[in-house]
Amino acid sequence: MLKLLLLLAAVIGGLWWFARAGRRPRSSASPAEAMARCEYCNVHVPDSEAVRSDDHTFCSDEHRRAAGY
Ligand SMILES: [Zn+2]
Repeated sequence: MLKLLLLLAAVIGGLWWFARAGRRPRSSASPAEAMARCEYCNVHVPDSEAVRSDDHTFCSDEHRRAAGY
């Protein structure tokens, strides 16, 4: 009887976990945005926040200037 209860708890727990895991991506504010890498410090920033100069990508205007672009 105890084994049956444990099994039931495991099944419910598993279903709850799957429901939670499945819901998470849809509830997040920005779905998997492309990342850009700063050429100066190698930090990855969201594509929309990246600073660009010709073909060069930076995390901030400060690093764009620091790199000489
Ligand atoms: Zn940077």
